[in-house]
Amino acid sequence: MICLMDMFNGSKRRIRPFIRLPKRLAAAALSFVLLLLFGCSAQTPEARRELFSMDTYMNLRAYGDNASEALDTAVREITKLDGLLSVTDPESEISALNSGEGGVHFLSEETFAILSSTLALSDELGDSFEITLRPVSEAWGFTTGEYRIPDETELASLLPLVDDGLVALDANERAVSLPAGVKLDLGAAAKGYAADTAADALTEAGVTSALLDLGSSTIRALGSKPDGSAWRVALRGPGGKSTAGVLELRDACISTSGGYERYFEGEDGEIYWHIIDPSTGRPAKNGAASVSVMTPDAFSGDVLSTALFVMGPDAAEEYYHLHGGFELIILMEDGSIRLTPGAEALFTPEGGADITVIGRD
Ligand code: ADP
Ligand code: MG
Repeated sequence: MICLMDMFNGSKRRIRPFIRLPKRLAAAALSFVLLLLFGCSAQTPEARRELFSMDTYMNLRAYGDNASEALDTAVREITKLDGLLSVTDPESEISALNSGEGGVHFLSEETFAILSSTLALSDELGDSFEITLRPVSEAWGFTTGEYRIPDETELASLLPLVDDGLVALDANERAVSLPAGVKLDLGAAAKGYAADTAADALTEAGVTSALLDLGSSTIRALGSKPDGSAWRVALRGPGGKSTAGVLELRDACISTSGGYERYFEGEDGEIYWHIIDPSTGRPAKNGAASVSVMTPDAFSGDVLSTALFVMGPDAAEEYYHLHGGFELIILMEDGSIRLTPGAEALFTPEGGADITVIGRD
């Protein structure tokens, strides 16, 4: 500013200008120079929404002229999906399936699409991921908050119901058929699906810069920040309290499954959490505090992070080597970190964690 003032005022006294500008023209020229200098930092319109949906607080942020309207559409889409998929809302389509009576049920187009996509992924993921886990989650009280430790006999009686192969779909009729006792829980997939649906709504409205945080464990970045830099997302440390590091995201999703999201301490002093190994019916404990995956879409990331958490660090690495298509960050309970080379390039750990880059020995 000072140098500009000199140019137009102070300097006038010392140096005789070539051409004397009329006052109005000088003012216009000044505005033009100011615009050139500061115009690029003019704020891109920003819109934000906060909502409580799918049992979590969500924060949505978008930039650009259509951001506000587009976010309203995104919020409507998320709320609609919650209404269809919620296991706590007795009016939801999923609740209607979960009476335990089994039988044939006809579904809306959307619920059928989510169910069939999730079952297809579940099929690829084998024993680690079963949407039919609900009878076991109920036994532990994770569905009500009335926590208890079921004994081996109880778990053994429920485990035969935990098998996604028992869910039969008929695409022509948009129907699902369940044996008696089988109950579904899309808790490991719903937020990812919702993030993608919200992102599609934003893209359709022409938004190219947005950060959709569906409860910290599912984050989808659309493009980069308006200034072109990457979104920076903090990853929670073991126990969920401190920050393990910061991840740069551009047009990608990060999904995290951690034992700290929902857990209780048993009378035996043990911590029991909500991510359960379907082959034992017990919380999956294998040394990982959390598993984060970076994927192009949030739906497969959400499902994958839960499945890889259940598999455990070694099997998760093996899965990565076999399938690829995603980046992986495993925070171990002992504070060490195991991550893939692609994740290493984008992740700045906090403190002096012991880091192993997967596949680089
Ligand atoms: P969060 O919902 O806390 O973000 P996840 O995406 O990992 O975390 O999903 C956890 C939810 O997934 C649980 O609350 C439960 O509903 C469900 N779930 C737990 N274990 C499994 C499993 N092995 N297979 C499928 N779903 C699971
Ligand atoms: Mg998940």
